[in-house]
Amino acid sequence: PSEQEEVDASKKTLVILGTGWGAVSLLKKLDTENYNVIVISPRNFFLFTPLLPSCTTGTIEHRSIMEPIRNILRHKKAQVKYYEAEATKIDHQKKVVYINDDSEIKGDTSSTEVPYDMLVVGVGAENATFGIPGVREHSCFLKEVADAQRIRKRIMDCVETASFKDQSPEERKRLLHMVVVGGGPTGVEFAGELQDFFEQDLKKWVPEIVDNFHVTLIEALPNVLPMFSKQLIDYTENAFKEESITIKTKTMVKNVTDKTIEAEFTRPDGTKEKEVIPYGLLVWATGNTLRPVVKDLMSQIPAQKDSRRGLAVNEYLVVNGTENIWAVGDCAIANYAPTAQVASQEGAFLARLFNSLAKTETINAELAKLSAEQAKATSDERTRILNNIKALQRQLRRVKQIGPFEYSHQGSLAYIGHDKAVADITWLSGNIASGGTITYWFWKSAYVNMCFSTRNRALVLLDWVKSYIFGRDVSRE
Ligand code: FAD
Ligand code: NAD
Repeated sequence: PSEQEEVDASKKTLVILGTGWGAVSLLKKLDTENYNVIVISPRNFFLFTPLLPSCTTGTIEHRSIMEPIRNILRHKKAQVKYYEAEATKIDHQKKVVYINDDSEIKGDTSSTEVPYDMLVVGVGAENATFGIPGVREHSCFLKEVADAQRIRKRIMDCVETASFKDQSPEERKRLLHMVVVGGGPTGVEFAGELQDFFEQDLKKWVPEIVDNFHVTLIEALPNVLPMFSKQLIDYTENAFKEESITIKTKTMVKNVTDKTIEAEFTRPDGTKEKEVIPYGLLVWATGNTLRPVVKDLMSQIPAQKDSRRGLAVNEYLVVNGTENIWAVGDCAIANYAPTAQVASQEGAFLARLFNSLAKTETINAELAKLSAEQAKATSDERTRILNNIKALQRQLRRVKQIGPFEYSHQGSLAYIGHDKAVADITWLSGNIASGGTITYWFWKSAYVNMCFSTRNRALVLLDWVKSYIFGRDVSRE
């Protein structure tokens, strides 16, 4: 290995896969002096996903919610290595991760392997399509920055193409039909943002689309936002009605073509009705599925054979069937919803655990040294050494007291458009459900506070002011 790649042989090598909520929250609190820390991720930045729906319409610019991983790492006490690469395979017998540089520019070496003593898998999840034909080819997802940029471009493309000379009325209608599939928080937040864009800016800038622009949200279940309380579900559905967003519940999409969606609606009597819905823009937000690298790891471990939705972990987040692999966030199944809140608490828990493991090892090494000294010492020295041993043992008892991971739910928040948000907040072991404009201001202040850095916070605030004063930028770029 080159000088740059040398590792300190006296320390364990801790490899962290991912730069998302789980991995970055672990990195933030980890004492990097204790390990040779290596971070591997194809994305060299952290993304504040809660504000990603706002990037699809330009309310917020995407760079305002990105924080370079290099900036996070340069503030750590000891050097952390970062490789911009995708983990393609984890060999848990050999304790090696195979990585591949998937970016546009490649050097002579673009795939290699990284050995580990300890591994944290925080690679998140992929978009679920349930194998429905046409989804991958024709729809946009909403998970990464590139997805938000693609949606932003496509909204304006639909608007401009609909305004093309001699466009037929039906085609204009189709192009301006914006369809969102999936009534979870991603779909609801995006639909709200899109309707805002139309009401606040597009109507003024492109008045010829006013009669045809329409947002529809399709959900297979009887209602949207299943994780919220009934009261807030009703509130959201009524707010959407007022905003003129159509919600089609009990409607399961079965097939997608380049211009239409084929769905099946279940009538109250249980009979089914087929529907063909023409669309211009289709955003697919039907939740998560496993990444191939996670699926492959699960297939190597017999203890994972009954797990379907992700890596089954124990109460210390150790991947079942392994001793030195931990998993956090959306790729792990620990009986919690796949949210940023869970991922970041899991990451912080692992940082505490690893800091304490390292301290325990240091104390044990010192204890072993003192015991050896004690055997050779004179009787005077022996009392001093014995006192030191006792002090260290007390310290050890304190350090070791890390209980299992416990998730503390702070509540759920979602923006629903027209300056309204819904919130189910856990308060003094009770629950407060609220929806409306005050909740919207609470949503804004909560998310701005949660942004990764002061720089992010300032940029997001500036973006809000900018789009309020000047309107959102409708250039298609
Ligand atoms: P991620 O944050 O997705 O990070 C995964 C990381 O792994 C990324 O850096 C990725 O590049 C990297 N990676 C991927 N493949 C590989 C590989 N093969 N090898 C190495 N690295 C890899 N949750 C909330 O609690 N509140 C919200 O308001 C909220 N809003 C959301 C809005 C949107 C639009 C979306 C999409 C999600 C939202 N979530 C929210 C959910 C939240 O973003 C996820 O639960 C959270 O990101 C999970 O964290 P993670 O670390 O597991 O994965
Ligand atoms: P989700 O899993 O929460 O919801 C997906 C929805 O799509 C489900 O309601 C499902 O019934 C529906 N669906 C699935 N297949 C369908 C089909 N063929 N036709 C019609 N509908 C179909 O997904 P999400 O909204 O992407 O959220 C993923 C995770 O991220 C969740 O855990 C969520 O809590 C979290 N998240 C949270 C927030 C927030 O707190 N504000 C925002 C975004 C995401």
